[in-house]
Amino acid sequence: MKRRKHNFGAGPGALPLEVLEKARDEIPLFGETGMSVMELSHRGGDYAAIHEKTTALLVELLGIPSSHKVIYLQGGASLQFAMVPMNFRKEGESADYVVTGTWSKKAVKEGQVAGKVHVAASSEGEKFTRIPEESTWDKDPNAAYLHITSNNTITGTQFSSFPETGNVPLVADMSSDILSKRIDVSKFGLIYAGAQKNLGPAGVTVVIVREDLLERAGPEVPIILSYKTHAKNDSLYNTPPTFTIHMVGLVLDWVKGLGGLEGMEKRNQEKADLLYGAIDKNPDFFRSTVGGSSRSRMNITYRLPSEDLEKRFIEEGSKVGFVGLKGHRFVGGIRISAYNATGPDSIRAFVRFMEEFASKNE
Ligand SMILES: *Cc1c(COP(=O)(O)O)cnc(C)c1O
Repeated sequence: MKRRKHNFGAGPGALPLEVLEKARDEIPLFGETGMSVMELSHRGGDYAAIHEKTTALLVELLGIPSSHKVIYLQGGASLQFAMVPMNFRKEGESADYVVTGTWSKKAVKEGQVAGKVHVAASSEGEKFTRIPEESTWDKDPNAAYLHITSNNTITGTQFSSFPETGNVPLVADMSSDILSKRIDVSKFGLIYAGAQKNLGPAGVTVVIVREDLLERAGPEVPIILSYKTHAKNDSLYNTPPTFTIHMVGLVLDWVKGLGGLEGMEKRNQEKADLLYGAIDKNPDFFRSTVGGSSRSRMNITYRLPSEDLEKRFIEEGSKVGFVGLKGHRFVGGIRISAYNATGPDSIRAFVRFMEEFASKNE
């Protein structure tokens, strides 16, 4: 096998090598089934065991209370931008959004298609370089829900704590930081996350929804787009992405083996400390774009003194096996995505590269 690279891509992101190797070994023949997971009937017992195992691990690792149900959907986080307002906002109601990046803006746009949206806070005026202080938010106490994006994959900001919303259900797009640290699921009405950053390969969206909210959707919601349909049918209303759900189960086994979310939290803190440490040690060369408590532990963004140096940094990095360094086209600069599967050793090797590059080019 050719050498694997240090993959700092923003999504789909790196997967643990152990998981890929296990999946590879089992591709033609899974357990005693005599076939591949990809060939199993989604209505049969063998697949049911995979489906149940994945859900049980999500419940265990995230501490999902019995008030909440896990469902698997397709269409990415992007479909959730549309499903949340369809299912949760009744005619005449308004929904609150906190706009902290490109993905929250897209969520707002979908929210505006068929009803009212109120932007409770936005950091767009500051190019999304921070999470607005909760004390400054203009919350509507009658909102159908309040929507946040817990980690902003593009600009590299992250909520370090979650807001108090009283009786207003809190809805969060956690696509790029789910499973990266411990959270209190009971605080949320609904959490959604596309798999391809921290959960597994692309193709499935995990939705965790408080069961009483399933009743909100009216008869105008198409059956296939109603959370209730999928909750009632245990995500088997139509054929789920069976192999992707199996892969998520393997990733969850791996997370559990590393100490669950407490283990992930420590690992991600260590990685972020290494990266921000290297940036802050040399602030003239590595110019952090995000400050203090808004800094993301998943996507670390910074600039170099010139675009020419950034281009060379990316090129030279790529030659020695560091890929996915280029910032999103909307913001430029450098972005290092350090999702769960990225090990501290990869980050340490990269920090050495950063220091060498700086000393040659200062
Ligand atoms: C990647 C990402 C999305 C988009 O996910 P799709 O699966 O492409 O729809 C949405 N929100 C956040 C926070 C993301 O990181």
